Amino acid sequence: MRDVPELVRVSIGTAAILGLEERWLSAEPSTAYLMTYTEGRCTANCAFCPQARESTASQDLLSRVLWPPFKTGEVLKALRGGRSRGLKRICLQVINYPGFLDDVMELLKAIRGVTDLPISLDTPPIGLKALGELLELGVERVCIPIDAATPRIFEAVKGRGVGGPYTWTGHLKALEDALKVFGRGRVTTHLIIGLGETEREAVRLIQDMWNRGILTGLFALTPIPGTRLEDHPPPPLDAYRRIQVARYLIVHGLTRYGDMAFDWEGRIIDFGLEPKRLVELLSSGEAFQTSGCPGCNRPYYNERPSGPLYNYPRPLRGDEIDKEVEALLRMIWRGGAY
Ligand code: SF4
Repeated sequence: MRDVPELVRVSIGTAAILGLEERWLSAEPSTAYLMTYTEGRCTANCAFCPQARESTASQDLLSRVLWPPFKTGEVLKALRGGRSRGLKRICLQVINYPGFLDDVMELLKAIRGVTDLPISLDTPPIGLKALGELLELGVERVCIPIDAATPRIFEAVKGRGVGGPYTWTGHLKALEDALKVFGRGRVTTHLIIGLGETEREAVRLIQDMWNRGILTGLFALTPIPGTRLEDHPPPPLDAYRRIQVARYLIVHGLTRYGDMAFDWEGRIIDFGLEPKRLVELLSSGEAFQTSGCPGCNRPYYNERPSGPLYNYPRPLRGDEIDKEVEALLRMIWRGGAY
């Protein structure tokens, strides 16, 4: 029998909320973000990832966020009071390395022993049997990040193109297996915008996933020094906003990929809604907030707190909503239908 791993990584914002680290936060995480600890690097080699096998970035990084290791016992003790510290969920990010599943199972048992907060697990593809065990251990939602909008981009950033172990069909199969075990609405994937996809390709993937019962969480490529994509620019904010809005409308059943229109470069020029209706639907500002599992706000995962904010980690103020909606309408107006 394996022991609980001695160390676990904790995002710096989570560490501050849990009282493990003293730090002023301009936005507090509403989810406790944890990551498995391993001495070496991930055996995969995703081009955007500081944890990748050939990355020379600090192993304390995932995206632009610091994840220092802490003694697991200290973290578990702090998680006991998680709800009173405003936490709504625990998200365990899993690095791929030999024996990672055993570590994950032991960590999950230990976490379940100290808190009833819902748990999301973000994992590389695993088999049906392991998925069933995760469900039994009380995992509420599982995420298998496809990250890329098309098979071609997937190959280039996660698969053979970077000497990585993953395949597009393998990830799709893993997502289907996760659906069999966890059911529709309890499976998530991630999509990173800025890897060379068109807006049309991104929205098609989001719709396809949604049709299968899978929720897509949206990320902006964050070029980190030491990763293969260190010199790759982040996505243009206007393109991100259009995809973000399309995602919001799709997962709320308000429009569909097939009702939308795109220009010759694949940019969204019509969301399939009357302008007045679109403004109404965006008036809460929710479309511009972080997307993913319920209760997840990932503060400043893709951007500096000074902005521009790809994902708002909190509800928007009235003036921010007006600014974002006006900018969106201006952008579409220039390009097409409105
Ligand atoms: S599997 Fe996850 S941790 Fe490993 S390189 Fe890919 S994105 Fe990074």
